[in-house]
Amino acid sequence: MSFKPLLPIEAITANMADLHLPLRPQEAIVEADRCLYCFDAPCIAACPTGIDVPGFIKKIAARNEVGAAKTILTANILGASCARVCPTKVLCEGACVLHDRDQKPIEIGRLQRFATDYVSERKISVLKPPATKNGIAIAVIGAGPAGLGCAAELAQLGYSVTVFEKEKLPGGLNTYGIALYKMTPAFSLEEIELVKSLGVQIQCGVNIGKDKSIADMEREFKAIFVAIGLGAGNRLGIPGEDLPQVVDALTFIKRLHSEPLNSVAVGERVVVIGCGNTAVDSVTQSIRLGAKQVSVVYRRGQNEMSAYDFEYAHAKHDGATFLFHCMPLEVVASGGHVSGIKLVKTKVNAAGNLEAVAGSEWIEPCDMIVKAVGQEKQVPFLKKLFPTLAMNKRGGIVTDALTGATSLPHVFTGGDCSNAGREVVNAVGEGKKAAHGIHQFVTKKQPEFPMQHSRMGHKAGASGSGLLHPIRAHELEAALAKRLSAQGKANK
Ligand SMILES: Cc1cc2nc3c(=O)[nH]c(=O)nc-3n(C[C@H](O)[C@H](O)[C@H](O)COP(=O)(O)OP(=O)(O)OC[C@H]3O[C@@H](n4cnc5c(N)ncnc54)[C@H](O)[C@@H]3O)c2cc1C
Ligand code: SF4
Repeated sequence: MSFKPLLPIEAITANMADLHLPLRPQEAIVEADRCLYCFDAPCIAACPTGIDVPGFIKKIAARNEVGAAKTILTANILGASCARVCPTKVLCEGACVLHDRDQKPIEIGRLQRFATDYVSERKISVLKPPATKNGIAIAVIGAGPAGLGCAAELAQLGYSVTVFEKEKLPGGLNTYGIALYKMTPAFSLEEIELVKSLGVQIQCGVNIGKDKSIADMEREFKAIFVAIGLGAGNRLGIPGEDLPQVVDALTFIKRLHSEPLNSVAVGERVVVIGCGNTAVDSVTQSIRLGAKQVSVVYRRGQNEMSAYDFEYAHAKHDGATFLFHCMPLEVVASGGHVSGIKLVKTKVNAAGNLEAVAGSEWIEPCDMIVKAVGQEKQVPFLKKLFPTLAMNKRGGIVTDALTGATSLPHVFTGGDCSNAGREVVNAVGEGKKAAHGIHQFVTKKQPEFPMQHSRMGHKAGASGSGLLHPIRAHELEAALAKRLSAQGKANK
């Protein structure tokens, strides 16, 4: 693309710096002391990985940072990245009871970051691989958050786990997709060392279906966890879409994660099509690269956009303009270079469908267009890998929400490829649950973990942990220690 860097590298690097500063030790203790330590804490049920939030906060208040990190990482192996990337306002912090008192909710994400940073900065290992392995090999396809969540849990249950990843580096969208001001690729890669320290083997550069067949995997492994995420960005299907200055949001964001920042092409006037969280990330990062004007085009209104309110507010704060109720008709070019986009106003007709308002077209000047209109589902690819795998109407895999089981007994799944695209913490949580589903499939036994009955009952689905009963970390740790010691004695 024929763009010159708009800002020097130092300015771009400064622009991409951490959005939320870490808590200082004293601030963390003051914040932890505000927690009411609810017995049946709604934040636990709102966290898709079921972290014992009051448990770890109490440990921070008692200046037991290592214990706090252990509580977090036992429940969520990617607890350090989740502390940075979770939309906490709609998850744990959104459920905080302090809202009912018209008080600020506890800053759970920042406290989680405080505890996990404490151990990673001091290279303290809080998780250990099991003393013995059970000799059973399990394969994981995809080293994104779902694959890593499943692999870490299986390794702790004593399995020999191999993760196959087609990219050069592991981490999936955690390494290649998250906005740089939330988390860097280097941080994601460092966190993966924790997964490897549990004995998980990660083989990068292996594209399953091309470099290795499913038949080979079925011979080598007792079960397979499929965590391949979603596919490429959707197309707009309008004339001019293939011009070099029209880019897919994922490609644009991936370049930010793998090339020097001042070599990533960006226009001075950028139009982003779509209004989800990926669109917002494209907006805020284009502005940080130096774009002078960024507009978002969305065919419906603010109430229908899928971007979270706080992400929308972030983009507005950065200076983006939102053009609601309009859609693109054609990319306009001059001399082979994008010079604008033809838009038309939209309205909802009597049948409830969206239609273009005749005669309302106009050309919005721009020199770059970013397409952020969702990612393709992996249906054809999954059908090629597993011809008899049952798929749902939304293009996801038919999955048991509690165990990750699919229509094939030895195949389990989780993350974006089965939930059609959610958050990092959902992917980790689904990976973790599937690890217990696999354990149940292999041993034909129910999971042995202690369960604490909850007065609130269980909450399945996207915003809940999906665990039948929230698990308190100290009980989990005690049960693990008991089992590991029993395993040790049996092997003597
Ligand atoms: C631009 C963007 C920004 C986001 N920002 C946030 C955020 O701020 N906070 C948040 O919580 N969530 C965010 N998300 C969502 C989050 O990143 C995903 O929900 C999460 O990464 C899903 O994890 P996954 O493991 O299911 O899939 P992925 O992260 O997509 O990982 C799938 C992995 O499988 C590999 N793979 C695919 N096919 C094969 C094959 N045939 N063989 C071997 N390997 C294969 C891929 O290379 C990839 O590494 C964002 C998503 C996008 C697109
Ligand atoms: S993992 Fe995310 S949702 Fe769960 S407690 Fe931590 S910040 Fe909240």
